[in-house]
Amino acid sequence: MSDSAQRYFEQAAERLGLTASEKKLLLTPHREVRVQVSFRMDDGQTATFVGYRIQHDRARGPMKGGLRFHPEVNSQEVLELASLMTWKTAVVDLPYGGAKGGIAVDPKSLSAGELERMTRKFVDEIHDLIGPDSDIPAPDMGTNAQVMSWIQNQYEKYHGFSPGCVTGKPVELHGIEGREEATGRGVAIILGCTLAQLGRKMGGTTVAIQGFGNVGSYAARILHEMGARIVAVSDVAGGITHPQGLDIPGVQAHQSATGKIAGFAGSRAISNAELLALDCDVLIPAALGGVLTQENAGQVRAGIVVEAANGPTNPGADAIFNERKILVVPDILANAGGVTVSYFEWVQNRQHFKWELADVRDKLEKKLSRAFRDVWEISQEKSVSLRAAAYMLGVGRVRQATKLAGLG
Ligand code: GLU
Repeated sequence: MSDSAQRYFEQAAERLGLTASEKKLLLTPHREVRVQVSFRMDDGQTATFVGYRIQHDRARGPMKGGLRFHPEVNSQEVLELASLMTWKTAVVDLPYGGAKGGIAVDPKSLSAGELERMTRKFVDEIHDLIGPDSDIPAPDMGTNAQVMSWIQNQYEKYHGFSPGCVTGKPVELHGIEGREEATGRGVAIILGCTLAQLGRKMGGTTVAIQGFGNVGSYAARILHEMGARIVAVSDVAGGITHPQGLDIPGVQAHQSATGKIAGFAGSRAISNAELLALDCDVLIPAALGGVLTQENAGQVRAGIVVEAANGPTNPGADAIFNERKILVVPDILANAGGVTVSYFEWVQNRQHFKWELADVRDKLEKKLSRAFRDVWEISQEKSVSLRAAAYMLGVGRVRQATKLAGLG
């Protein structure tokens, strides 16, 4: 992802007329932590990995953001992702700042016991820095509800009962209904808002989705239910396409049975590169960052790009999309459904009152539609892209909070 988020911040800062000292204040992370995570492997050997938690900004409230277990995790990437969380929580107007963390490890290379010991060791190292009123982790790539449960349990050994110290927990143990699907559902809601704004219908809209993990598969499922035609999906091993639209529940059943989406009956195999350049209405990158670059942006044939992943478009590709009048719905708006339902979960934990699924979905829809409207209005008023408008909204709100608190 390199320095994409910083470049987008700089562009917004310029449009908002921020001074050099304001820019420095907003860009400098609050705290960066790097820890050794050593634990016993099943074979008796000791394994050592590096863990990070970077707290970017806390002007609007406790810092919030996921934990990523992935071999490519490094301090530069975590800092970028932490800053995205600051702007994202502000765009959706949640009472939070931004943070991110992770461990540079391939979780698939560990047994369940090793994964648990590693997670607990990481919490041992950072438990004093996180908490329901300071910094609240959540799932991201390579982590899930089980990992969040271990985090809660380990945190409570030091601090006592505190279910609000982490979100994305299992529904059976202080989690909230609808959190697992939330990011994918949010992507579908935001695409619905976009199409409605353009006077177009979801029914029959053709969609290609890169990535079939938590976010991509829920987005595919929900868009399919809403009447869109999912013409292609892919995972790390490659993709599948069907011009008439894939039967998404069937693809999911095939994936559960075989562990991959390739070979789904009646589909044609395509590469990830082909998927990005597919002739369709909407392209949804829902996997790693940095997949849309100067090199391939010219080949994209979709008219709308919805960023379900964090940081999928680098600034060179973003400029090409703007020039080609391809409408890009930016990550800090398009994938904000996850952190929004995390917020509902945190509220539920503080009130010890369980929310109904229908309530979660209804409030998610309201929150995201409101954010979409705010961003759209700025983009119209200032004649800027949706990304520029979202950054102006997010950065502007954080600046205002900083000022009101007496800094800057
Ligand atoms: N990891 C998700 C994101 O990037 C969710 C963060 C959260 O729920 O705190 O937005």
